[in-house]
Amino acid sequence: MLTRTLPLRGAANPSSLRDGTNPGSFANAPNVGGALTFSSPDTPGMPQPSGKSAWDFLPDGWRRDGDRAIAPAGFVPVTQLEHARLGTITPEMKRVAERESHLTAEQVRDEVAAGRMIIPANTQHLQHALEPMCIGRASKTKINANMGASPVSSSTDEEVEKLKWAERWGADTVMDLSTGGNLDECRQAIIRNSRVPIGTVPIYSMIIGRKIEDLSIEVILESLREQAKQGVDYFTIHAGVLREHLPFVQRRLIGIVSRGGSLLAKWMLVHGKQNPMYTHFDQICEIMREYDVSFSLGDGLRPGGLADASDEAQLNELTTLGELTEKAWRKGVQVMIEGPGHVPFDQIEYNMKLERQLCHGAPFYVLGPLVTDVFPGYDHITSCIGATAAAYHGASMLCYVTPKEHVGLPKKDDVKQGCIAYKIAAHAADVALGIPGSRDWDDSLTKARAALNWEKHFELAFDGDTARAFHDEDLDVDTDFCAMCGHDWCSVRISKEIVEFASGKADGFGRDKIAQSAALTPEQREILEKRGVLSPEEIHRLASKTRKAVGAEGSKGSCHSDYVEPTTAQQIQEQRLVQLRTKPEVSAAE
Ligand code: SF4
Repeated sequence: MLTRTLPLRGAANPSSLRDGTNPGSFANAPNVGGALTFSSPDTPGMPQPSGKSAWDFLPDGWRRDGDRAIAPAGFVPVTQLEHARLGTITPEMKRVAERESHLTAEQVRDEVAAGRMIIPANTQHLQHALEPMCIGRASKTKINANMGASPVSSSTDEEVEKLKWAERWGADTVMDLSTGGNLDECRQAIIRNSRVPIGTVPIYSMIIGRKIEDLSIEVILESLREQAKQGVDYFTIHAGVLREHLPFVQRRLIGIVSRGGSLLAKWMLVHGKQNPMYTHFDQICEIMREYDVSFSLGDGLRPGGLADASDEAQLNELTTLGELTEKAWRKGVQVMIEGPGHVPFDQIEYNMKLERQLCHGAPFYVLGPLVTDVFPGYDHITSCIGATAAAYHGASMLCYVTPKEHVGLPKKDDVKQGCIAYKIAAHAADVALGIPGSRDWDDSLTKARAALNWEKHFELAFDGDTARAFHDEDLDVDTDFCAMCGHDWCSVRISKEIVEFASGKADGFGRDKIAQSAALTPEQREILEKRGVLSPEEIHRLASKTRKAVGAEGSKGSCHSDYVEPTTAQQIQEQRLVQLRTKPEVSAAE
């Protein structure tokens, strides 16, 4: 028998109970409090982490004293970053630590102080229903859902409904990207109704009723102040698009695909001046600091197709975003960085690790990226493949993409599809990185699946309703197999019936003597053959016939291996099943 040496690098086992036969994650050993936190092993040639953090960019007049900072006399901290620098654990940090069970409140504070984590929590929004959360590599990967009325579709009520829907399906933050309808009213309603942080791209509201050419610094600052006062938790500010970057765009296949980036590029070309968001960055910081609005430094030059990925326009802008990060930190403002976009799979790790270096570990918030351009209508899939790689290699938050990307305004079901695709990406990366406890959910579901415990299976499923509907489409009764393989070929049932295996012997679950289930009836076979063609009514009519075949009185077939009284089940477990773990030798005959 071969014994292989697995490439273990000291990462934590993502399973709390160490269940199963897997030794744990193959990622690097965690380094919370250092530049690497949870990280993937480097492919040769990858950029190394920056040796600096937010500690190297303290405001004027501040000095460092050990692991704390000393502010000038009379200074009143406002932002989470300022509190963290001064050593304070805020109520928001405590709440974050409760939600990130692998982190202590001290670790949350220290990561915020280092700039590697942000808690986007506008002081105004905290007065409503906001539940503080964090974004950073030491914590679990987060997802963002975009919504917002467009000039051709949707209303405030519809957007609030979408917000609730996005929260229901796991969005950790929501961006209101409205460009039509009553923007102020819609934003206000979303902030009032949200438990999650709300982000906006303020330039959208700045150009309502005016041409981009007429945008002035006064309008910019006034709009930012108004939105900050309303309670927006983070602003996308495209301050990194510079005049000198624009020549790099000329040969691109698809120019500038960021709305904010293209508007500001036009402004710069019309006026022959530098980006006003860049030249007035300090004033913008001051407004944002006042309400603790976090920066999401926008990637106005992100690639809009694989052919433009990792080009000079994109990477020069990223270098500028690194400089702006340092400036914002000097102003006490929390920062995350926005990233691409459309990136071939092989270039994703480089993009993540370059950001980590240039922006000194500030959280990276990426849109996808899409790993191919030719599946419009399915871009939630093309992008969640890239998002999984991005989250494994360095992203902290993933901006979802819905099936409507590139082709239309997402409706409710598109929001659900986008959220689910991105929950998959984020969770898969957390497990791979070895974030403690992240695999517990998977292990619980695996146990329920092995025990053929359908109720538990659906209860644990992220979208149990859909899983149950798919199951019941063919067999609306609880059997110890499902319609995918049928009774005779159900490997899970067979494994469960092998006494020597732990498989299927979940706590609280037992079985009587091995029960023989009926194989597929002609009706069941008919259902399988016509799957996808029959109407739901017809499926249920035919599926009901299976009850007779499996001797079901209620919803559970008498053939089910677990169809016994709880006391009997307990006895069986004690006498026959649990011994698998206690007796070294057990024969199949027992
Ligand atoms: S029939 Fe196939 S798919 Fe269904 S539970 Fe058994 S092994 Fe799994």
